[in-house]
Amino acid sequence: MSVDENCLFCKIAAGKIPSRKVYEDDHIYAFHDINPWAPVHFLMVPKLHIPSLAQAGPEHEALLGRMLVLAPRLALEQGCKPYPEGGFRVVINTGDEGGQEIHHLHVHVMGGPRPWLRG
Ligand code: 5GP
Ligand code: ZN
Repeated sequence: MSVDENCLFCKIAAGKIPSRKVYEDDHIYAFHDINPWAPVHFLMVPKLHIPSLAQAGPEHEALLGRMLVLAPRLALEQGCKPYPEGGFRVVINTGDEGGQEIHHLHVHVMGGPRPWLRG
């Protein structure tokens, strides 16, 4: 299944539910988290519905690689200072015990001056 019509992040990635867009291409959508933990906190999602990192397979290697390589560029654009003084944190919560609430694979990118709300 490429898109799940009941999935919040599928709807956000398709523009059916509004979000504050950070980046978009044919395969990836990035948007600000509605409840940020840090001064910079955005989410990167594949437009393809993958429930979590646990369902990622060899066919997703290029997509996941692109998301990770995109993260530092978007972090800088969103105001994170450069490495090594600045930087950012990347988190992929996976499953209930991993703290995942939305079951569409997403990469949290958090950064900016501390203290942060969490972490
Ligand atoms: P998880 O706990 O699944 O890793 O993270 C889900 C994240 O999605 C949370 O940080 C939460 O604030 C964010 N989120 C949940 N619903 C929405 C929404 O409707 N819009 C946006 N922009 N973020 C959301
Ligand atoms: Zn989805």
